[in-house]
Amino acid sequence: MDIESINKIKKTLKKNFPDVELKMDSDERGILTLKGECRDWDQVVQIGHLVAKQKGVKNVVNKLRVPGLDIPCKDYSDYIAMGNKLGVVDDVDVVIIGAGISGCGIARELAKYKMNILVVEMSDDVATGATKANNGNIHPGHAAKPGTLKAKLNVEGNRMYTKWAEDLGFELQRCGAMGFVTSNLLKPALKVAYNQAVKNGVDGAALIDGKTACQIEPGLVKNGLGKAVKQAFWLPTMGLVEPFQVAVALAENAASNGVRFWFNCTVADVITESGKVSGVVTNKGIIKAKYVINCAGVYADEVSAMAGDECYTIHPRKGVIAILDKAKAPEYGALCEHVTMETIKLTLKNKKSQTKGGGMCRTPEGNVLMGPSAKEVPDKEDLATDSESLGYAMGRGDNGIQYSDIIRFFVGSRPADYKEDFVIEMSPISDGVINVGGIQSPGLASAPAIAKMVEGIVAQHAQDNGRPIEKKTDWQPIRKRKPQFRQLSHEEQGELIKKNPSYGKVICRCECITEGEILDAIHSSVIPCSVDAIKRRTRAGMGRCQGGFCQPRVLELLARECGKEWTDINLNKEGSNILVKSNRPVASVKEAKK
Ligand SMILES: Cc1cc2nc3c(=O)[nH]c(=O)nc-3n(C[C@H](O)[C@H](O)[C@H](O)COP(=O)(O)OP(=O)(O)OC[C@H]3O[C@@H](n4cnc5c(N)ncnc54)[C@H](O)[C@@H]3O)c2cc1C
Repeated sequence: MDIESINKIKKTLKKNFPDVELKMDSDERGILTLKGECRDWDQVVQIGHLVAKQKGVKNVVNKLRVPGLDIPCKDYSDYIAMGNKLGVVDDVDVVIIGAGISGCGIARELAKYKMNILVVEMSDDVATGATKANNGNIHPGHAAKPGTLKAKLNVEGNRMYTKWAEDLGFELQRCGAMGFVTSNLLKPALKVAYNQAVKNGVDGAALIDGKTACQIEPGLVKNGLGKAVKQAFWLPTMGLVEPFQVAVALAENAASNGVRFWFNCTVADVITESGKVSGVVTNKGIIKAKYVINCAGVYADEVSAMAGDECYTIHPRKGVIAILDKAKAPEYGALCEHVTMETIKLTLKNKKSQTKGGGMCRTPEGNVLMGPSAKEVPDKEDLATDSESLGYAMGRGDNGIQYSDIIRFFVGSRPADYKEDFVIEMSPISDGVINVGGIQSPGLASAPAIAKMVEGIVAQHAQDNGRPIEKKTDWQPIRKRKPQFRQLSHEEQGELIKKNPSYGKVICRCECITEGEILDAIHSSVIPCSVDAIKRRTRAGMGRCQGGFCQPRVLELLARECGKEWTDINLNKEGSNILVKSNRPVASVKEAKK
């Protein structure tokens, strides 16, 4: 970055925010560090964005603080002490930090090479971060700013999903997306959106007339909008997935190809020697590694800093989503009966928004989702549903949707950096550390392309360092999906029960999930250890009653199959035990049931 640009930024800051100090990195990469005090959190974020968008700025490390605002900060010191005490417990080629969609996708991609790969995840399962709390939209790639890495990987990733779904046996519905206008005055806005899609290389993007729009989406007519639609923007490549199903499928396939997963394992430090990475310190001991791939979501900036490369700051952007009862889908879901209504209307209203917040879409399983909202929050662990965010997610109240039809809200934090783009590169400071940071939306849609890009970085680096990686001859890209009872015909169900009677015992009545499916999940290549992990794999507990009936049965099955006590079974993370103690002998509980 040249001095002239730096001085220009300093001048802008001095004029508007005199208490803010700016420091440039010594290696002149264009990483700028901000220090000082601000009025409130929104101002912290505003200044971060202001600096990030200046010419030549690669990224922003934002250390601005708000007097009186205590931002909780993860303390890794106990974990470091535990890890150092345990000493070296493993020696691998690659450690992947984080088992979200990014970590699982990369693990599956790298599993084709003769490498020893370990995924370490601080939570109890795959897909517990942003990956479990999103809309499951495989965006076409029209919304990302042209020229960004996000735009490129979104379009590529969207294309690659078809093969992922075929190979890995998860459901992908190519429903298409549509944005429409009911006034001729708004047509130019559709044209702007269309031009951007073309610029980004989105396949099949088209401007269509109102009549064609109504043929594609009969919900428009059902909602009385038929004649009012003047023009629409059609994106046939929009897809829908259940995001946790994708992550589980990737992880299971990676595990079948030799990748290991350690859960409840937090990376607390990254070890480097003479500018090269040599391993990580975790609460389970030290793991030596040639490559460390940082897919730590909202904590990716902290992991990068652990490796001595403080090169971006994640500012969490919270999103609340409400799930409506499936039974209400025919009523409320009419507008997204076939396609997903895109957020063009919202984008027009809120041009400054950094995210695709708001809207209504459905899941492949048929629930209607309302939201997400988008709110900048200082705390990475703030996953509370606040009424303001929920109100935003539910819309302006003119859609007739009742709060009583919500069966669950969930909240995710988008791991956004100040450039509002993905950060995917080998660290120039700590050789062998690959950052996969800033993976906010469309991180799910881009996941296959992110995995490919990281594969390329590792392969190239290994080649350049005289140790080229070799492909396995027995890599198996196919993961066969286990039977899903509710989706079979009556005859198929009968056949299945004949072969294995456990498919005849329905455990989750709302979603029609059988004992056989739960046993399949428990005995899969990435073993689920908690009730929520079973829910993500099978949908047991995802219905109207939210596990009211099936949770005790799932708990019982987990205990039986894993050889544990009932009191040892967690709802999700360690320490979230559902049952605390027996107040009478288990046998008498069984007796009571009879
Ligand atoms: C409300 C909302 C809606 C969204 N909608 C969409 C959408 O429709 N389409 C789309 O494409 N994208 C969407 N996104 C974005 C998408 O969810 C993310 O881009 C994606 O899930 C990021 O995946 P990830 O694996 O990089 O991060 P995460 O899923 O957050 O995974 C990071 C993992 O790292 C682990 N971890 C962190 N620190 C450590 C450590 N020190 N040691 C060990 N493990 C660690 C965490 O526990 C976590 O499991 C949405 C996001 C939100 C919040």
